[in-house]
Amino acid sequence: MIKYDLHCHSTASDGILSPTEVVLRAHEKGVNVLALTDHDTVAGVPEARKHAEALGIQLINGVELSTLWEGHSIHIVGLGFDLSHEKMTALLAEQANLRDSRAQEIGAKLAKAGVANAYEEAKKLAGEGEVTRAHYARHLVQIGKVANDGQAFKRYLGQGKSAYVKPQWVDIPSAIKIIHAAGGVAVLAHPLRYTMTTKWVRKLAENFKAWGGDAMEISGCGQSRDQYQLLVKLAEEHQLAGSMGSDFHFPCAWVELGKLAPLPAHIPLVLEIKNDLV
Ligand code: AMP
Ligand code: MN
Ligand code: MN
Ligand code: MN
Repeated sequence: MIKYDLHCHSTASDGILSPTEVVLRAHEKGVNVLALTDHDTVAGVPEARKHAEALGIQLINGVELSTLWEGHSIHIVGLGFDLSHEKMTALLAEQANLRDSRAQEIGAKLAKAGVANAYEEAKKLAGEGEVTRAHYARHLVQIGKVANDGQAFKRYLGQGKSAYVKPQWVDIPSAIKIIHAAGGVAVLAHPLRYTMTTKWVRKLAENFKAWGGDAMEISGCGQSRDQYQLLVKLAEEHQLAGSMGSDFHFPCAWVELGKLAPLPAHIPLVLEIKNDLV
Protein backbone atom coordinates (compact mmCIF):
# COMPACT_ATOMS: atom_id res chain seq x y z
CA MET A 1 0.00 0.00 0.00
CA ILE A 2 1.26 3.47 -0.84
CA LYS A 3 1.73 5.78 2.11
CA TYR A 4 1.03 9.43 1.30
CA ASP A 5 1.71 12.67 3.10
CA LEU A 6 0.76 15.73 1.09
CA HIS A 7 1.15 18.47 3.70
CA CYS A 8 4.18 19.18 5.90
CA HIS A 9 6.66 21.92 6.82
CA SER A 10 10.41 22.50 7.03
CA THR A 11 12.75 25.30 8.11
CA ALA A 12 11.86 27.05 4.83
CA SER A 13 8.84 28.26 6.87
CA ASP A 14 7.79 27.31 10.40
CA GLY A 15 8.94 23.68 10.55
CA ILE A 16 11.77 22.71 12.88
CA LEU A 17 13.44 20.13 10.61
CA SER A 18 15.39 21.01 7.47
CA PRO A 19 13.99 19.78 4.13
CA THR A 20 16.62 17.01 4.22
CA GLU A 21 15.56 15.95 7.72
CA VAL A 22 11.88 15.97 6.74
CA VAL A 23 12.55 13.65 3.82
CA LEU A 24 14.72 11.32 5.93
CA ARG A 25 12.02 11.16 8.58
CA ALA A 26 9.32 10.55 5.97
CA HIS A 27 11.41 7.65 4.65
CA GLU A 28 11.80 6.26 8.20
CA LYS A 29 8.02 6.41 8.60
CA GLY A 30 7.45 4.55 5.34
CA VAL A 31 6.08 7.47 3.30
CA ASN A 32 6.31 6.80 -0.48
CA VAL A 33 4.70 9.97 -1.83
CA LEU A 34 5.48 13.26 -0.10
CA ALA A 35 4.72 16.93 -0.68
CA LEU A 36 6.65 19.56 1.27
CA THR A 37 4.18 22.44 1.61
CA ASP A 38 5.84 25.35 3.36
CA HIS A 39 3.91 28.55 4.02
CA ASP A 40 4.09 30.78 0.93
CA THR A 41 7.46 29.44 -0.23
CA VAL A 42 8.92 26.65 -2.34
CA ALA A 43 12.48 27.37 -1.18
CA GLY A 44 12.81 23.98 0.54
CA VAL A 45 11.63 21.86 -2.38
CA PRO A 46 14.90 21.52 -4.39
CA GLU A 47 16.80 20.33 -1.30
CA ALA A 48 14.01 17.87 -0.47
CA ARG A 49 14.03 16.59 -4.04
CA LYS A 50 17.74 15.76 -3.91
CA HIS A 51 17.23 13.31 -1.08
CA ALA A 52 13.75 12.05 -1.99
CA GLU A 53 14.88 10.50 -5.24
CA ALA A 54 17.75 8.59 -3.63
CA LEU A 55 15.34 7.20 -1.02
CA GLY A 56 12.71 6.15 -3.54
CA ILE A 57 10.21 8.77 -2.37
CA GLN A 58 8.10 10.47 -5.03
CA LEU A 59 8.27 14.16 -4.17
CA ILE A 60 5.38 16.31 -5.36
CA ASN A 61 6.06 20.04 -5.63
CA GLY A 62 4.03 21.80 -2.96
CA VAL A 63 3.21 25.04 -1.17
CA GLU A 64 0.67 26.17 1.44
CA LEU A 65 -0.66 29.55 0.34
CA SER A 66 -2.13 31.95 2.90
CA THR A 67 -5.32 33.52 1.55
CA LEU A 68 -7.92 35.90 2.91
CA TRP A 69 -11.61 35.01 2.81
CA GLU A 70 -14.36 36.84 4.72
CA GLY A 71 -11.75 38.15 7.16
CA HIS A 72 -10.35 34.66 7.83
CA SER A 73 -6.88 33.43 6.97
CA ILE A 74 -7.56 30.33 4.85
CA HIS A 75 -4.82 27.95 3.71
CA ILE A 76 -4.75 26.55 0.18
CA VAL A 77 -2.28 23.80 -0.61
CA GLY A 78 -0.96 23.80 -4.18
CA LEU A 79 0.39 20.49 -5.49
CA GLY A 80 2.21 19.40 -8.62
CA PHE A 81 2.81 22.85 -10.15
CA ASP A 82 5.84 24.19 -11.97
CA LEU A 83 8.10 25.68 -9.29
CA SER A 84 9.47 28.37 -11.55
CA HIS A 85 6.23 29.43 -13.25
CA GLU A 86 6.35 33.23 -13.45
CA LYS A 87 2.87 33.82 -11.98
CA MET A 88 3.62 31.56 -9.02
CA THR A 89 7.04 33.14 -8.51
CA ALA A 90 5.46 36.61 -8.56
CA LEU A 91 2.75 35.59 -6.08
CA LEU A 92 5.27 34.05 -3.67
CA ALA A 93 7.43 37.19 -3.83
CA GLU A 94 4.37 39.33 -3.04
CA GLN A 95 3.32 37.08 -0.16
CA ALA A 96 6.87 37.17 1.25
CA ASN A 97 6.74 40.97 1.28
CA LEU A 98 3.35 40.91 3.00
CA ARG A 99 4.75 38.43 5.55
CA ASP A 100 7.71 40.60 6.34
CA SER A 101 5.76 43.84 6.73
CA ARG A 102 3.14 42.06 8.85
CA ALA A 103 5.94 40.57 10.97
CA GLN A 104 7.34 44.06 11.59
CA GLU A 105 3.90 45.31 12.62
CA ILE A 106 3.52 42.34 14.98
CA GLY A 107 6.91 43.24 16.45
CA ALA A 108 5.76 46.84 17.02
CA LYS A 109 2.57 45.68 18.72
CA LEU A 110 4.51 43.28 20.93
CA ALA A 111 6.85 46.11 21.90
CA LYS A 112 3.79 48.08 23.07
CA ALA A 113 2.70 45.01 25.02
CA GLY A 114 6.09 44.97 26.77
CA VAL A 115 8.06 42.53 24.61
CA ALA A 116 11.05 44.34 23.09
CA ASN A 117 12.95 43.26 19.94
CA ALA A 118 10.53 40.49 19.08
CA TYR A 119 10.81 41.04 15.29
CA GLU A 120 14.59 40.63 15.42
CA GLU A 121 14.26 37.53 17.58
CA ALA A 122 11.56 35.96 15.41
CA LYS A 123 13.70 36.65 12.32
CA LYS A 124 16.62 34.92 14.04
CA LEU A 125 14.45 31.88 14.76
CA ALA A 126 13.23 31.83 11.16
CA GLY A 127 16.79 31.95 9.82
CA GLU A 128 16.60 31.97 6.04
CA GLY A 129 12.97 30.82 6.14
CA GLU A 130 9.76 32.86 6.06
CA VAL A 131 8.79 34.52 9.37
CA THR A 132 5.48 33.26 10.69
CA ARG A 133 3.48 33.78 13.86
CA ALA A 134 4.79 30.37 14.94
CA HIS A 135 8.26 31.94 15.29
CA TYR A 136 6.81 34.70 17.46
CA ALA A 137 5.08 32.05 19.55
CA ARG A 138 8.35 30.16 20.03
CA HIS A 139 10.13 33.35 21.05
CA LEU A 140 7.42 34.21 23.59
CA VAL A 141 7.79 30.70 25.05
CA GLN A 142 11.60 30.97 25.13
CA ILE A 143 11.55 34.25 27.11
CA GLY A 144 8.99 32.83 29.50
CA LYS A 145 6.09 35.16 28.59
CA VAL A 146 3.86 32.14 27.98
CA ALA A 147 4.09 28.42 28.76
CA ASN A 148 3.42 27.10 25.24
CA ASP A 149 2.66 28.07 21.64
CA GLY A 150 -1.08 27.75 22.18
CA GLN A 151 -0.97 30.33 24.95
CA ALA A 152 1.06 32.70 22.77
CA PHE A 153 -1.80 32.66 20.24
CA LYS A 154 -4.44 32.98 22.94
CA ARG A 155 -2.79 35.95 24.61
CA TYR A 156 -0.93 37.80 21.85
CA LEU A 157 -0.99 36.45 18.29
CA GLY A 158 -4.50 35.12 17.69
CA GLN A 159 -7.27 37.02 15.91
CA GLY A 160 -8.28 40.07 17.98
CA LYS A 161 -5.44 39.72 20.50
CA SER A 162 -2.94 42.47 21.42
CA ALA A 163 -0.32 41.66 18.75
CA TYR A 164 -2.74 40.55 16.02
CA VAL A 165 -2.28 42.19 12.64
CA LYS A 166 -4.93 41.63 10.01
CA PRO A 167 -3.14 39.98 7.09
CA GLN A 168 -3.57 41.15 3.49
CA TRP A 169 -3.08 37.78 1.79
CA VAL A 170 -4.14 37.01 -1.78
CA ASP A 171 -7.83 36.09 -2.29
CA ILE A 172 -8.89 32.48 -2.92
CA PRO A 173 -9.92 32.84 -6.60
CA SER A 174 -6.53 34.37 -7.48
CA ALA A 175 -4.64 31.69 -5.53
CA ILE A 176 -6.52 28.92 -7.36
CA LYS A 177 -5.99 30.59 -10.73
CA ILE A 178 -2.26 30.91 -10.18
CA ILE A 179 -1.90 27.29 -8.99
CA HIS A 180 -3.77 26.17 -12.10
CA ALA A 181 -1.78 28.45 -14.42
CA ALA A 182 1.38 26.84 -13.02
CA GLY A 183 -0.05 23.40 -13.82
CA GLY A 184 -1.01 22.34 -10.30
CA VAL A 185 -4.07 21.37 -8.28
CA ALA A 186 -5.61 23.42 -5.44
CA VAL A 187 -6.50 21.80 -2.12
CA LEU A 188 -8.44 23.44 0.72
CA ALA A 189 -6.26 22.74 3.78
CA HIS A 190 -7.57 21.49 7.15
CA PRO A 191 -11.16 22.80 6.72
CA LEU A 192 -12.04 22.19 10.38
CA ARG A 193 -9.11 24.09 11.84
CA TYR A 194 -10.46 27.57 11.14
CA THR A 195 -12.31 29.30 13.93
CA MET A 196 -15.70 29.22 12.21
CA THR A 197 -18.95 27.32 12.53
CA THR A 198 -19.74 24.30 10.33
CA LYS A 199 -22.20 26.51 8.47
CA TRP A 200 -19.33 28.82 7.46
CA VAL A 201 -17.06 25.88 6.60
CA ARG A 202 -19.80 24.69 4.21
CA LYS A 203 -19.90 28.13 2.64
CA LEU A 204 -16.12 28.09 2.34
CA ALA A 205 -16.14 24.67 0.62
CA GLU A 206 -18.94 25.83 -1.68
CA ASN A 207 -17.05 29.01 -2.67
CA PHE A 208 -13.80 27.07 -3.07
CA LYS A 209 -15.47 24.63 -5.48
CA ALA A 210 -17.23 27.42 -7.38
CA TRP A 211 -13.89 29.21 -7.83
CA GLY A 212 -12.36 26.09 -9.39
CA GLY A 213 -10.81 24.40 -6.32
CA ASP A 214 -10.02 20.72 -6.88
CA ALA A 215 -9.87 18.98 -3.53
CA MET A 216 -9.97 19.31 0.24
CA GLU A 217 -7.99 17.66 2.98
CA ILE A 218 -9.96 14.87 4.57
CA SER A 219 -7.35 12.83 6.37
CA GLY A 220 -5.22 14.62 8.96
CA CYS A 221 -3.48 13.91 12.25
CA GLY A 222 -5.27 14.00 15.59
CA GLN A 223 -8.77 14.15 14.17
CA SER A 224 -11.79 12.37 15.62
CA ARG A 225 -13.97 9.92 13.72
CA ASP A 226 -16.74 12.51 13.66
CA GLN A 227 -14.44 15.10 12.14
CA TYR A 228 -13.26 12.65 9.49
CA GLN A 229 -16.86 11.78 8.62
CA LEU A 230 -17.89 15.42 8.45
CA LEU A 231 -15.01 16.08 6.03
CA VAL A 232 -16.02 13.12 3.86
CA LYS A 233 -19.56 14.51 3.77
CA LEU A 234 -18.33 17.97 2.80
CA ALA A 235 -16.22 16.52 -0.03
CA GLU A 236 -19.23 14.54 -1.27
CA GLU A 237 -21.55 17.55 -1.08
CA HIS A 238 -19.19 19.79 -3.02
CA GLN A 239 -17.77 17.15 -5.34
CA LEU A 240 -14.22 17.78 -4.24
CA ALA A 241 -11.47 15.17 -4.42
CA GLY A 242 -9.70 14.26 -1.18
CA SER A 243 -6.22 14.80 0.17
CA MET A 244 -4.20 13.45 3.07
CA GLY A 245 -1.71 15.52 5.03
CA SER A 246 -0.21 15.41 8.51
CA ASP A 247 0.67 19.16 8.63
CA PHE A 248 3.83 17.99 10.39
CA HIS A 249 5.91 20.88 11.81
CA PHE A 250 8.17 19.08 14.33
CA PRO A 251 8.39 15.71 16.07
CA CYS A 252 5.69 15.43 18.73
CA ALA A 253 3.38 12.83 20.19
CA TRP A 254 0.28 13.47 18.11
CA VAL A 255 1.43 14.56 14.64
CA GLU A 256 3.62 12.32 12.51
CA LEU A 257 4.56 12.14 8.86
CA GLY A 258 2.41 9.60 7.03
CA LYS A 259 0.29 8.74 10.07
CA LEU A 260 -2.98 9.15 8.20
CA ALA A 261 -6.20 7.24 7.72
CA PRO A 262 -6.86 6.22 4.10
CA LEU A 263 -9.57 8.03 2.14
CA PRO A 264 -12.89 6.23 1.66
CA ALA A 265 -12.83 4.21 -1.59
CA HIS A 266 -15.41 6.41 -3.35
CA ILE A 267 -13.46 9.66 -2.89
CA PRO A 268 -10.68 10.12 -5.47
CA LEU A 269 -7.28 11.15 -4.16
CA VAL A 270 -6.30 14.58 -5.48
CA LEU A 271 -3.30 13.12 -7.32
CA GLU A 272 -5.61 10.95 -9.40
CA ILE A 273 -7.25 13.96 -11.02
CA LYS A 274 -3.93 15.04 -12.43
CA ASN A 275 -2.51 12.31 -14.63
CA ASP A 276 1.11 13.35 -14.62
CA LEU A 277 1.24 13.04 -10.82
CA VAL A 278 0.48 9.34 -10.43
P1 AMP B 1 1.07 32.75 9.96
O1 AMP B 1 1.04 32.03 8.64
O2 AMP B 1 2.28 33.62 10.09
O3 AMP B 1 -0.21 33.43 10.30
O4 AMP B 1 1.31 31.62 11.06
C1 AMP B 1 0.40 30.60 11.17
C2 AMP B 1 1.08 29.37 11.77
O5 AMP B 1 1.11 29.47 13.18
C3 AMP B 1 0.28 28.11 11.47
O6 AMP B 1 0.68 27.54 10.26
C4 AMP B 1 0.63 27.23 12.63
O7 AMP B 1 1.84 26.55 12.37
C5 AMP B 1 0.85 28.20 13.76
N1 AMP B 1 -0.36 28.33 14.62
C6 AMP B 1 -1.51 28.96 14.33
N2 AMP B 1 -2.37 28.90 15.36
C7 AMP B 1 -1.75 28.22 16.34
C8 AMP B 1 -2.08 27.83 17.67
N3 AMP B 1 -3.27 28.15 18.23
N4 AMP B 1 -1.17 27.14 18.39
C9 AMP B 1 0.02 26.83 17.87
N5 AMP B 1 0.41 27.17 16.62
C10 AMP B 1 -0.45 27.86 15.86
MN1 MN C 1 2.56 26.43 10.24
MN1 MN D 1 -2.28 25.56 7.56
MN1 MN E 1 0.47 23.56 7.21
